[in-house]
Amino acid sequence: MDHFPTSRRIALKQLVSLSAVGALGMLRSGNGQAAAGGTPAAIIPGFGGQITARSDASYESLRQALVWHRSKPQRYPDLIVQVRSEAEVAAVVRHAAQNKLKIAIRSGGHNPTGASMRDGGICLDLSALTDIKVDKQRQIASVQTGVRAIQLVARLAEDDLTFPTAHCMTVGMGGFLLGGGIGWNHAYRSGMATLNIEGAELVLADGSRVVANAKENPDLYWAVRGGGPGLFAAVTRFHLQAYPLPKAIRVSSYILPLDKLSTMTSTLDKLSPGKDPRLEILALLMHNPEAPPDAPPEQSKICFLTAFAFGYSAEESRAMLAPLAQSPIASDALVKAEDQPYTLMQLFPKFFSTETPGGYMGRYAAESAITDEPGKILHDMADHFRTARSPICHVIASYGLNLKPHADACYSSIARHYVGCFAIWDDEKEDEIYYRWLEKATTHMDPWAKGHYVNEVDGQRHPERIRLCYSPESWQRLQVLRQKYDPQGVFHSYLAPPA
Ligand SMILES: Cc1cc2nc3c(=O)[nH]c(=O)nc-3n(C[C@H](O)[C@H](O)[C@H](O)COP(=O)(O)OP(=O)(O)OC[C@H]3O[C@@H](n4cnc5c(N)ncnc54)[C@H](O)[C@@H]3O)c2cc1C
Repeated sequence: MDHFPTSRRIALKQLVSLSAVGALGMLRSGNGQAAAGGTPAAIIPGFGGQITARSDASYESLRQALVWHRSKPQRYPDLIVQVRSEAEVAAVVRHAAQNKLKIAIRSGGHNPTGASMRDGGICLDLSALTDIKVDKQRQIASVQTGVRAIQLVARLAEDDLTFPTAHCMTVGMGGFLLGGGIGWNHAYRSGMATLNIEGAELVLADGSRVVANAKENPDLYWAVRGGGPGLFAAVTRFHLQAYPLPKAIRVSSYILPLDKLSTMTSTLDKLSPGKDPRLEILALLMHNPEAPPDAPPEQSKICFLTAFAFGYSAEESRAMLAPLAQSPIASDALVKAEDQPYTLMQLFPKFFSTETPGGYMGRYAAESAITDEPGKILHDMADHFRTARSPICHVIASYGLNLKPHADACYSSIARHYVGCFAIWDDEKEDEIYYRWLEKATTHMDPWAKGHYVNEVDGQRHPERIRLCYSPESWQRLQVLRQKYDPQGVFHSYLAPPA
C-alpha cells in the first residue's frame, strides 16, 4: 500500500521546505544592526545580529517567512531581531526591559496561531540557535531552542540515541517542548516530551541568565515544563533525557471506509488499555487520496489507522502489531500494509511530509481536545467531517498520553488521549468557510474534552481554552510566577483577542 507516494519527489519537496527554512539564514547574514533599507534601527548594546524594522524593504517577506503555514497573521512587530548567541538573547531582553518594548519569541515558527507574531515591540527570532551537544554516557542532549525535530533525531542517531520529537521534521524544539510535546513513541518516553526536560537555561525579564532544574530555581523548572506559548522568560537551551534508539521499528497501516469507523474505535478501545507503550497508534479521519478528483466530499472520506511499533528486535515489534493484524480492523480494511520496517528518519517523510495532510503547508487552523473518549469524539465528528471540502482537512487521535504523576511540571495530565482537528486549505477567499467549519467541529469535540492542548488552541477565538489546558492549581501558580518573574510584562502572555 502506498497512500502517499514516497519517492524522490517527496524527498526533494522536503528538501525544498528545509531550504526555505535555511533561506532565513541568508536574511540573517548581515553583521550590522539595521537591515538593508536604511531605517535607523535601535542600537542594542551587546548585540551584533540582524534587526529588521517595519519600514525596511525586507520586513514583510521576513515577517511572513517566520510563520510556517500560509495563514500569515495580520500582526506586525516593530522590530524583528535575529540573534546569533545566547548572550545576544540576554542583551536584547535587557534592552527591551529598559525601553519598555514587549517581546514575543519564535523558535521554529510552527505554532498554528502564529503566536510569535504580535503587534508592536520585538519579535525575537531564536531559530539560529541550533547547537546540539550529546553526552552519550549520561544520555543527555543539550539542545538550543532553534533546533528542529529532524536535526535532533539525526544527531542523536549518531550515538544510537533518540528523543520523542514532533512527528513533522521541521517543528521547532522550543515551542514543541514548552507546550508539552506529543512526540514519536511518547507513551514510552515519559509521556509528553516536556517531562524529559532535565534542566533549562533561561533569560529572565530583566535580562539575567539563570539555570533551572529540580534543584536550582525549581519554580522556573516547573514552569518551563509545560508553560507553553505564553511563558514569562526566554529559554535558550534545554537539557534533555535521551533514550536508546529503537533499531527495529515496524509499522502497520489500515484504511477503512468511514462508515466502518465503529470497527476502528471499538477495536482501539479494547486494545488500548493493555497495549504496550512502545506501540504508538494514530487514528485519522481524512480524505481518501485515491478518490477521483470529482468525488463529492461526503463520499471520499476514510479512516486511516497507523500503528508504529518501536521495538529493539523485529520479533518484539511484530508481537506488538499482532493484535491489530488479528482484529476486525484488519479484516474490514480496504487496503492494508502490515509489518513494514522503517528507521525513525524514514518515518518523517513517509507519514508527515509536505505531501501528507499532517505536514501540508496550507492555510491553517487547529483546535484540540484532551479526552478520555477519543472514539466518541471521532463518531460525533464523522458527519461533520464528511462536509470538509478541502482534501487536506483531517482529524487525528493519538491514543495513550501516559499519565505518570509529575509534581515538578505545570503540564497538566488532564486525560489519557488527544484529538486534534485541522482545517487546512489553499484559497484565501475561503478563510471564513474553514474557520466556521473548524468552529463547528469544536462543538463535537468539546462535550468529550476534559481540557485542550496548549500548542493547538486558538487563544484569539477562544481565550478560555488556554486556561483549560491546565489544572486549576497549575494555572493559578503560573499566574503567580508570571507576576514574580515578569512584573512589567516584558514577555507577551498567551495570544488573546485584540483589546
Ligand atoms: C506541521 C506541524 C506538525 C506538528 N506536529 C506536532 C507533533 O507531532 N506533536 C506535537 O505535540 N505538536 C506538533 N505540532 C505543534 C507544535 O508543537 C507547536 O506548533 C509548537 O508551538 C511549535 O513550536 P515552534 O518552536 O516551531 O513554534 P514557534 O511558533 O516558534 O513557537 C511557539 C511559541 O512558543 C513560545 N516559544 C518558542 N520558543 C521559545 C523559547 N525559546 N522561549 C520561550 N518561549 C518560546 C513562544 O510563545 C512562541 O510563540 C505540529 C505543528 C505543525 C505545524
